[in-house]
Amino acid sequence: MNSSQNEFVDVLFEKEVMLMKPENTFNSKESVDVGGSERIPSEMRAWEVTSPAPIDSSPSPIHFVKHPVPVPKTSEVLVRVISCGICHTDLHVAEGDLPVHHPHVIPGHEIIGRVVANGPQAGRFNLGDRIGVPWLRWTCGVCTYCRSGKENLCPNSLYTGWDHDGGYAEYVTVPEGFAYRIPSAFNSVTAAPLLCAGIIGYHAFRRANVPAGGRLGLYGFGGSAHLAAQIAIAQGIEVHVFTRGKDAQRFALELGAASAQGVYDPSPVSLDSSILFAPVGDIVPKALENLAAGGTLALAGIHLTDVPSLNYQNHLFHEKVLTSVESNTRRDGEEFLTLADRLKIHPKTTEYPFEKADEALRHLSHGDMQGACVLRISEG
Ligand SMILES: [Zn+2]
Ligand SMILES: [Zn+2]
Repeated sequence: MNSSQNEFVDVLFEKEVMLMKPENTFNSKESVDVGGSERIPSEMRAWEVTSPAPIDSSPSPIHFVKHPVPVPKTSEVLVRVISCGICHTDLHVAEGDLPVHHPHVIPGHEIIGRVVANGPQAGRFNLGDRIGVPWLRWTCGVCTYCRSGKENLCPNSLYTGWDHDGGYAEYVTVPEGFAYRIPSAFNSVTAAPLLCAGIIGYHAFRRANVPAGGRLGLYGFGGSAHLAAQIAIAQGIEVHVFTRGKDAQRFALELGAASAQGVYDPSPVSLDSSILFAPVGDIVPKALENLAAGGTLALAGIHLTDVPSLNYQNHLFHEKVLTSVESNTRRDGEEFLTLADRLKIHPKTTEYPFEKADEALRHLSHGDMQGACVLRISEG
């Protein structure tokens, strides 16, 4: 941080303190008293992607470092991070499957935290409010897509933990219009996976166009799939799961799936719709074969290994639809969080200490996770 930014921090926080607690006087560069409730340090602990490489390589691509606490810009809020879910996309950022958009980026985009400072012109939340910070950080609001309800396709969009520092950190900023209020039914660890795994799984579920009471196939059964499965089952849809791990298969059956088998096993029924969550292009032909006439296969990953060549008769004829899924709109997010609360969705989580984010990413890369890993960063 340069000196002019430091001055801005001082001015901003002084203004904050004056707003919240007029009797307080700001006189320290080390920490700031916000409303008498939270002291904001000038430095925080965070994980950053130093140089993308396979997660098992030595030295590790991610490092635990000291970092300046970010300063909220216009219409942004500063959030003290309570928890941050670990998503496959974080692994793609750390390993370089996604190109570097922001050198030394702090990953993480399933963030639950409390608002501790408002930037200029921010006023949507009160200090102390618990909010969620998602993958979709910003869209332009003026392009054709933004103006037609498809902001997920905005070519100017920015993403948390890729274009901008994310939640493997003690503090993060977010444009207030892109954050979500978190239903009180969810604690701060179980709520984290809702922010990406949940919302994007829901967008994929909508893209898969499952008919009422229809049959849905899910390929891969990690953080996103286990939430999409619960949304589908709660609405009377018959869910069939295809995943490599025996534990994951058992877990799918416990959640109410009609069947669970290996990824390349034959489907017990013809499927109306399917979602491919595993980032494995080799599965695409098999998933298309398992579809009924007119069925849809939605590819939910931001990254997919190459798809083998397809045979028109076997894989696409009979009006089968093959589509990808890109990000989500804020409307998807609001709908999903409302449904998750109403349908009593239970995210299954494994909690990791903040200091072990590298270990959690390695576990994720080795597969057979049940549910989602969540870093615990501070107390709620
Ligand atoms: Zn746009
Ligand atoms: Zn994600």
